Amino acid sequence: MTPKAFPFPLSLVQEMEKRTPTPFHVYDAAGILRRAKALDEAFSWSPGFRNYFAVKATPNPAILELLRGAGSGADCSSLAELVLAERAGLRGEDVMFSSNDTPAEEFRKAARMGAILNLDDLSHVGFVHRTLGRLPELMCARLNPGRAKEGNAIIGRPEEAKYGFTPEQMFEGYHAMKELGAKRFGIHVMVASNERKADYFVETARIVFTLVAQLSRTLGIEFEFVDLGGGIGIPYRPEEDEVDLAAVSAGIRREMEDILVRNGLRPPRLCMECGRTITGPCGWLLSRVLHIKDTYKKYAGLDACMANLMRPAMYGAYHHITVFGKEDAPCDETYDVTGSLCENNDKFAIDRPLPRLEPGDLLAIHDTGAHGHAMGFNYNGKLRSAEWLVMPDGAPRLIRRAETLDDLFATLVPPVRARESGEHSERRI
Ligand SMILES: *Cc1c(COP(=O)(O)O)cnc(C)c1O
Repeated sequence: MTPKAFPFPLSLVQEMEKRTPTPFHVYDAAGILRRAKALDEAFSWSPGFRNYFAVKATPNPAILELLRGAGSGADCSSLAELVLAERAGLRGEDVMFSSNDTPAEEFRKAARMGAILNLDDLSHVGFVHRTLGRLPELMCARLNPGRAKEGNAIIGRPEEAKYGFTPEQMFEGYHAMKELGAKRFGIHVMVASNERKADYFVETARIVFTLVAQLSRTLGIEFEFVDLGGGIGIPYRPEEDEVDLAAVSAGIRREMEDILVRNGLRPPRLCMECGRTITGPCGWLLSRVLHIKDTYKKYAGLDACMANLMRPAMYGAYHHITVFGKEDAPCDETYDVTGSLCENNDKFAIDRPLPRLEPGDLLAIHDTGAHGHAMGFNYNGKLRSAEWLVMPDGAPRLIRRAETLDDLFATLVPPVRARESGEHSERRI
């Protein structure tokens, strides 16, 4: 069970609303730090364990800086994410570059930053060498274990997934990297997303440790780190439980001892690239009810739409909803909770039991701290919302203003200015 409650007082939300009308996302810095620490502590037996926070989950430098202060690195997969990490003060091997279908300029940028290049394909060994005129000393490659591993709902079956080298290609890949001058090696695997079963991670570790032993023996190389990727799930539903990190960690430790240490191999540093489990439960989308509609079903129409949170429409994902001032009221009405897009799947919840709602009610949509605001888009000309970070001392910091019509029109040629049409494009801040 995971009780769902918004952790801050209504007065704080009202203070934020004065600067940025709903909808907006609110993040809890203390909670984010607590979760980052819990992951580090679960792996405290592994010297040098580090999480490279997946920037795509919450791509805001304020979040990256907060996590940098707690010792996290950054996992980037695009030019923009590299730039954000750099802006947050992350440099060199603080940055893991786990990209795919990568443009040359992104490899160049990552190499200039001294980031760890984690290659997605055998052909990228030559591509990087040609692009940079050399290989960096430290290189990593992403394994796709194929049929050795069952799939998971979001990423799908590994052999259907576009990511990574086959196990056979890994031998050729590391051989080529060594020939081209790489001297230090890491290996990466990520085959799950939002997975809550401890065994899933342990089994993945077993597959990658087994390959590490074979590669080390065959090629005479030593692996200095094993990156188990992200994918640790969170309990979106109140009846679900948190992932048992102690069980994940103990299982991985056992596999490392059995497969590597017992065979005389030096234990590699472990790392992960978790995004969701760090920030997911520490974010809320706040939105007010605009309209209640009663036709074939009851609808609660919000001032937010799937441009602010796409997961329910995209994955059928559950996000818990609480209503300010009605936290303890009986949920004796059933609503589809909708946004305003001209898309019938623009719904935050379908057939959701909730307290009786009225226009003006303030709702907290839970667990939006990862892959929430980040997935936003501008369909129907909807503007992406502001983001607030409540600092550990309780002070709210605006860490992104809301978009304006002028932002939306900025790329039009010839230009269109909202002001000329009498709109107050600065309404939202
Ligand atoms: C998405 C992604 C992550 C983060 O996944 P979470 O589910 O947020 O933990 C880490 N690494 C890579 C390569 C990814 O694509």
